[in-house]
Amino acid sequence: MVVEPKSKGFICTTAHPTGCYRNVEEQVRYAKKAGEKYKCNRHKGIQKVLVIGASTGYGLASRIAAAFTCKAATIGVMFERPAAGKRTATAGYYNTLAFDKLAEEEGLYTKSINGDAFSVEIKEEVINAIKKDLGKVDMVIYSLASPRRTAPDGVSYTSALKTVDEPFTTKSLNLNNNEVVTATLEPATEEEIEGTIKVMGGEDWELWIDALKEADVLEENALTVAYSYIGPKLTYPIYYSGTIGQAKKHVLHTANKINEKYPDIKAYVSVNKAVVTQSSSAIPAVPLYLSVMYKVMKEQKLHEGCIEQMVRLFEEKLVNEKVPVDEEGRIRLDDWEMKPEVQNEIMKIWDKITTENVEELCDIEGYWDDFFQMFGFRIPGVDYGADVEI
Ligand code: NAD
Repeated sequence: MVVEPKSKGFICTTAHPTGCYRNVEEQVRYAKKAGEKYKCNRHKGIQKVLVIGASTGYGLASRIAAAFTCKAATIGVMFERPAAGKRTATAGYYNTLAFDKLAEEEGLYTKSINGDAFSVEIKEEVINAIKKDLGKVDMVIYSLASPRRTAPDGVSYTSALKTVDEPFTTKSLNLNNNEVVTATLEPATEEEIEGTIKVMGGEDWELWIDALKEADVLEENALTVAYSYIGPKLTYPIYYSGTIGQAKKHVLHTANKINEKYPDIKAYVSVNKAVVTQSSSAIPAVPLYLSVMYKVMKEQKLHEGCIEQMVRLFEEKLVNEKVPVDEEGRIRLDDWEMKPEVQNEIMKIWDKITTENVEELCDIEGYWDDFFQMFGFRIPGVDYGADVEI
């Protein structure tokens, strides 16, 4: 059938199989090229990699970088929906099929496990797969982003994207019509803050490491990395100081806890750049910030997407004997986004944006291109009028 994008706000309910394939293929091409540039003998310790949250955004790019830049065997965990009747599968489902195909063609071991990573059952399934096929893994990437989680005791939690303490009024982009509006975000309740920490904090990451350690499937000196974001002061009330920021502080606290508990492995938090993903599009004010930031970083030739960031993470940070970190022990891949010349320019533009000039001052097209490309649309060379097997 012919598959068209059906989007509303930050959600697109269809995905294009061929477009998703091309999207993954393009990232693979970039990662392979990077692998030729960097020396493969540097990749000891990145040979058997488990990626939790491996089907879209940063997790998918991590898996591609591990496999195609570092030639690692990978196990990926994701929660994606297959096609049913006339309903397409999710983009992450198609991405995973594409990854598996491309990895197999390259002679790389790949196993994808589709199910709830928060559950005990999926942890067991992954451990059994590691024991059977790889023996142990030497790296664990934790890249989950989810609106809800059911903890092992059966209690379900929901995350909220809200401020803490005070309401916050900001410029925001109405994603239905590109209008610049003023949005006020209300503060979260105690329960919402706790829920967000339960879902997006480090508790499940620690449970994964405990389970992998207990089963003795982690190599000595294994690395584990979880992802975080800080961003500029502009988005502090909604991000860094908001509910999601509280969860990210918990992730950092968890890294320290894992390091204390297991001295033979090393846990890091990597602070990544803001990029368009299914998760970031859902955060109020972030799409408008992304549109300005894309414009400025593209003009300054500093722009990166997920794959560029993840190749840089593996090749310039994780391969080092001593991983470079900031004063709080965090890897900083947001270093270019946070450059004063980038942030000063963003602030100048931010103050001036209105509905009338948004297309001129911001890279709105770049935002929407990235948005639709996540679902396999707007990919150059794909015939969107053609029938496709979903
Ligand atoms: P994303 O929405 O693109 O990916 C989320 C992944 O998690 C998908 O693979 C999805 O299948 C998987 N997932 C969700 N729930 C699951 C479950 N219950 N079981 C198994 N898999 C599940 O998200 P993203 O933006 O790439 O975010 C990944 C991490 O990077 C998050 O920690 C996020 O905070 C962080 N980060 C994102 C940005 C950004 O701008 N997007 C910036 C810095 C850091």
